[in-house]
Amino acid sequence: MIGRIHSFESFGTVDGPGIRFVVFLQGCPLRCQYCHNPDTWKAGGEEYNVEDVAARVLRYKNYFGENGGVTVTGGEPLLQIDFVIALFKLLKEKGVHTCVDTSGITFHPEDAQSVAKHKELLEVADLFLLDIKHIDDEACKKLTGHSNQNTLAFARFLSENGKKTWIRQVLVPNITDSEKSLERTREFLDTLKTVEKVEVLPYHTMGVVKYEKLGLAYPLQGVAAPTKESVEKARRILRG
Ligand code: SF4
Repeated sequence: MIGRIHSFESFGTVDGPGIRFVVFLQGCPLRCQYCHNPDTWKAGGEEYNVEDVAARVLRYKNYFGENGGVTVTGGEPLLQIDFVIALFKLLKEKGVHTCVDTSGITFHPEDAQSVAKHKELLEVADLFLLDIKHIDDEACKKLTGHSNQNTLAFARFLSENGKKTWIRQVLVPNITDSEKSLERTREFLDTLKTVEKVEVLPYHTMGVVKYEKLGLAYPLQGVAAPTKESVEKARRILRG
């Protein structure tokens, strides 16, 4: 089984609990205006065998401690769901905690095959970091180029299947920070049973240089990072 990989990070501390080996998979169907990894969008990446990636992760097992483990992110890692399942199967056999950072975009609740495939993933994934881009569907389409319906359906799917979930919301001034939409998000989260944590990630402009390198126009030109107060306020609303 071959995976197309953008890069690896050996001692990640922001994508899930503890110290984590982070695998960045190549490819993403979304085009979030605030994306700081536009270099992961296109197909391509370097090809790796699943056994080789598992061996790389296992070299760091002693550093994982009680909470750490592996996180797959991207891009959208579930574009390569078969690779993720195969990797996690190998790592679960070795007792490694497994985590997926996803937008849930690959989940199609009306398609039995898609549901079955994601169920297979749930058997070997311990934790999901689910990005809710925008609770309002029209605003989500404007922000990412896609509807939020798959994401919200995936959140419900995780809840119904008892799977631990951390919700992530990137806070962008004048786009995702209105009280009304944060409250709507909170109401949605209240319907879920397995949300352990809600993370508010302040928008930052560190990706700008990558857009320049790729010759792409930066969509959020002139948008500043949110203030500390607005981040705190969003945290208060979302955490209820
Ligand atoms: S889902 Fe992630 S990688 Fe894809 S465009 Fe959005 S922020 Fe970028």
